[in-house]
Amino acid sequence: MIHKVKTRSQTELIDITSEIQELVRISGIDNGICMLYVPHTTAAVTINESADPSVKADILMVLNTVIPWKAGYRHLEGNSPAHIKSSIIGPSELLAIENGRLVLGTWQGIFFCEFDGPRTRKIHVKFIQ
Ligand code: ZN
Repeated sequence: MIHKVKTRSQTELIDITSEIQELVRISGIDNGICMLYVPHTTAAVTINESADPSVKADILMVLNTVIPWKAGYRHLEGNSPAHIKSSIIGPSELLAIENGRLVLGTWQGIFFCEFDGPRTRKIHVKFIQ
């Protein structure tokens, strides 16, 4: 299925853990695999700490420092930093499902990563039983 994510900033991390967990619940799968895939070249998905929002702010700060918006890029569309961040973070995650729940560590959450927003984005969610 395709799950839509509405982003509000040019660059942001959005916690989608509860939305994906809800899709797992609706699927009725007790034990299996959940595959997340972002079909965009300027967005990504990652798993990291969701308890302290400072962590996602720090991740964005470092990405924006290492990959500045202006740096003599060749790509004429003008959004090369977004493409580079997308490749560094990556387009997919695989999660185990046990007893109808996503297997995540205590502090882990799933983040949709927007690098060229705001836009309405897609994430493919596939289940394997
Ligand atoms: Zn581009």
